Amino acid sequence: MIVMKFGGTSVADCQAITRTISIIRGKLPQKPVVVVSALSKVTDLLYRIADQAAVRNRMETSELLDQLRSRHIGLAHDLMSDSPSFCHQACAKVNDICDNLGSFVGAVCSLGELSDRSKAIIISTGEYLSSNIICCAMNARGIRTGFMDARRMIITDRDFLKGEPDSDAIKAKVPGIVSAAYEGNDAVITQGFVSATAEGEPTVLGRGGSDYSASLIGMAIDASAIEIWTDVDGVRTADPRKVENTKCIERISFEEAAEMAHFGAKVLHPLTIEPAVNKNIPIYVLNSMNPEGKGTVILQSNMIDDGVKSVSFKENILVINIFSTKMINTSGFLKKVFEIFSVNKVSVDLISTSEANISVTVDSSQKIDRVVEELSGFADVYVDRNKSQISVIGKNITNLKGLLQKTFAPLSDCKIYMISQGASYVNLSFVVDRDNMTDAVRQIHKYLFENESCN
Ligand code: ADP
Ligand code: ASP
Ligand code: MG
Repeated sequence: MIVMKFGGTSVADCQAITRTISIIRGKLPQKPVVVVSALSKVTDLLYRIADQAAVRNRMETSELLDQLRSRHIGLAHDLMSDSPSFCHQACAKVNDICDNLGSFVGAVCSLGELSDRSKAIIISTGEYLSSNIICCAMNARGIRTGFMDARRMIITDRDFLKGEPDSDAIKAKVPGIVSAAYEGNDAVITQGFVSATAEGEPTVLGRGGSDYSASLIGMAIDASAIEIWTDVDGVRTADPRKVENTKCIERISFEEAAEMAHFGAKVLHPLTIEPAVNKNIPIYVLNSMNPEGKGTVILQSNMIDDGVKSVSFKENILVINIFSTKMINTSGFLKKVFEIFSVNKVSVDLISTSEANISVTVDSSQKIDRVVEELSGFADVYVDRNKSQISVIGKNITNLKGLLQKTFAPLSDCKIYMISQGASYVNLSFVVDRDNMTDAVRQIHKYLFENESCN
C-alpha cells in the first residue's frame, strides 16, 4: 500500500482534480490511500469565517459562507457533468456540510465567542468538502473509492488547533478502518489536517498539517511509500517563490528534510518526517502539474551524500535577549530560563549564550508575553522584532572546508546577529534584519548553488 497526499493546489479546481485522479488511477495496483487537503485558499476562507463570527459580523460571515458553498457546488457540477447521480450525491453532501457549518457559525455569531474547540470545527470543514467531492468524482470515473473519516483514525490530545498525535492509538485504529473501507473498492480516500481526541472531539494538526496526516497513516499501515503531491518539482535548493534558478534535490535524508521543514521550507509540514523515519518509509515529493518529473525522494541518511542541499529561511522571527549578571559562574540559570519557555509552551529554535547573556529565537506566531513577563522577574529582557533566520542545510556540512567563508562571503554588507551551528552537523543558522533577508538568501543561493567552483 502507498499513501498519496494531494495539497490545495493539486485539488484547486476541475482541471487540477481531473489531473490528480488520473495520477491516482496510474497507482491503483499499489493500493493507494488518498489523503486530500481543502481546495486551495479554502482553509484561509474558513479562518476568515471563524474570525468574523467571533466579532458577530453576520453579514460578512453569511457572504463568505455563500462563497464557500457556491465554489464547491460549482466544482461538483464541473467535475461530474456527465454523471448526474454522482453529481447529485456530491451536491447533497456539500449542502449538508455547508448547512451544518452555517448553523454552527450562526451560534458562534450569537455568542460572539470563539473557543479553539469551535475554531477547529470550522476550519476542518474544507477537507470534508474536498474529500467528499473527490470521492464522488473518482467513483464517477469508474474508480470504486471508499470514504474514511479521519476523525476516527487520527487521534490527538486536546490541543484543538495543533493536536499532538497519539501514535499508539493511530496505529491501533488506522489499519482496520483502511481495510474495511477497501472492501470491494479500488482505492480509499480521507481528509488531511483533520483529527479528533480519543473522545471524538474535533481537533486539527495545525496549518499545513495534511502532510503530517499522510505520514501518520503511512506509519500506521506500514506503507511502502508516502507520496506528497504538490505544485513544485520536488524539494528544491531554496523556496522557488523567493529565489530564482533553484534546483530540484533528487535525494535527501530524513534529517536534512526535517531540518529544512523545521527551519522554514514550507514544502513539507515540519513533523511529516518523524513517523516515516520510525518505519523507514521513503517519502516522495512530487509535482501534480508535472507527474512525469522525478521529484525528490527522502531516505535514510546512509543512502545520502554529504554536502550542502538547501538554504531555508523563516522570514518573521523574534529574538529574545536575556541579560543577567546572576548567570556568571552559577549553575541552574539556564534551567530556570528554559523551564519558563517549556511551561508556556513556547518552542525555541536557536540559542546562543555568552557570559551574562542568552539569546534565543522563536517563531513570531508564538505568544511570548508570559515568557517575557516571567523572565523579567530575574533578568533584563529585550525582544528584537523584524528579524529573519536563514539556515544552510546539508548532511555533515560542518565538515566542509570553508563553509563559513562560503556562506558569509556574499553577505559582507549585511549585519548578522546570531550564529548557531547545530550539533547534528546538518545546519548552520543565523539571524539578519528582515529587510535584508531576501537579498541575503538570494546571494547565498547564488554563491553556493550557481557558482560551479563552490560545489
Ligand atoms: P500544498 O498545498 O501542496 O501542501 P504548499 O504551498 O504547502 O503546498 O507547499 C508547496 C510550496 O512550498 C511551493 O509552492 C514552494 O513555494 C514552497 N517551498 C518553500 N521552500 C521550498 C523548497 N525548498 N522546495 C520546494 N518548495 C518550497
Ligand atoms: N488545509 C490545511 C491548510 O491549509 C491543511 C493543509 O493544506 O495541509 O493549512
Ligand atoms: Mg502544504
